[in-house]
Amino acid sequence: MKYACLLFLFLCLNSIEVSAQKNTATKPKILIFTTGGTIASINGKPMIDGPILVQAVPELTNYAEIEVVEFSKIGSSQMTPANWLELSKKINEVLAKDSSVTGIIITHGTDTMEETAFFLNLTVKSNKPVILVGSMRSSNEISADGPANLLNAVRVAIDKKAIGQGVLVVLNEHIAAARNVFKNHNRNVHTFQSPELGYLGFVDPDKVVFYQKVLHPHTDQTDFDIRSLTTLPKVVLVQDYTGFDATILDYLFNQHIEGLVVQTFAGGRASAGVRKGLQNATNSGIPVIIASGVPNGRIIGTSPYDFPAIFSNDFRGNKARILLMLCLVEGMDMEGIKTAFEMY
Ligand code: ASP
Repeated sequence: MKYACLLFLFLCLNSIEVSAQKNTATKPKILIFTTGGTIASINGKPMIDGPILVQAVPELTNYAEIEVVEFSKIGSSQMTPANWLELSKKINEVLAKDSSVTGIIITHGTDTMEETAFFLNLTVKSNKPVILVGSMRSSNEISADGPANLLNAVRVAIDKKAIGQGVLVVLNEHIAAARNVFKNHNRNVHTFQSPELGYLGFVDPDKVVFYQKVLHPHTDQTDFDIRSLTTLPKVVLVQDYTGFDATILDYLFNQHIEGLVVQTFAGGRASAGVRKGLQNATNSGIPVIIASGVPNGRIIGTSPYDFPAIFSNDFRGNKARILLMLCLVEGMDMEGIKTAFEMY
């Protein structure tokens, strides 16, 4: 009898110790870089400090040990290529220095989220999850979507299936590839769409599910290395329009630009003004990318114009500009740029 009591006591003490160990089991470490945007806004003004933004969602700590780095407090329409460069360098530094970091989250405005995400997708040198998250409603609006989006982003960041997927955009329970996603609605919480290439996965109430992988090279699979850079090449994006004035391009080519992206009509068909302006610039040696303003489909093959220009594949003007910037960083010639637009 005595032995049975002792055995029972031992088993009780042992189970208490095990459960205590479970509770103190180290949680994955997630770094949250806060940059501003509607997710950190009150009445549309990005004024919420990074730590406060994160503390407003206490459930985050059920999933991970959270550290906050306040990077900026701006609307994403105010982001600049210098911000992209600094953010990518900071992320690369922290991932190279601290192996205990499981993943990175960037809270960001939705207006230019797809651009920052794409720049990071090509320049972060790690396969760890890097996820951009934002919201379409300010924190003070009824049914604000920020807290749920942030919690879902953390749940994706700690999921092993997110490793090696490239930079991701997580909003409204959808997981999208930075390469493919774009903002498609001025107001709706389901604004980020990837209509032809779809979503990589979804955040369900009980689990994170992935259905696809990104095939195009990204993050530590690319040749783009910006870690020692202080500036990015000056690449201009111009929107073609009916009756385009060719002198706009004459002016631009006299502004020491290093690259030009023209977002044209469907199929890469450009106005007479754009064609005239680019004809005048044939000898400038400045690489020209023709992107289509139509959100779906691709423009591929050799451009029909009698001036050197490269078709942008499925990238619209904003992402074509980013890819051209990075091609110029690597000193690529027109042939190399053409290959890059087919490959990335
Ligand atoms: N309305 C935008 C947002 O959703 C503002 C911004 O991009 O900063 O975050």
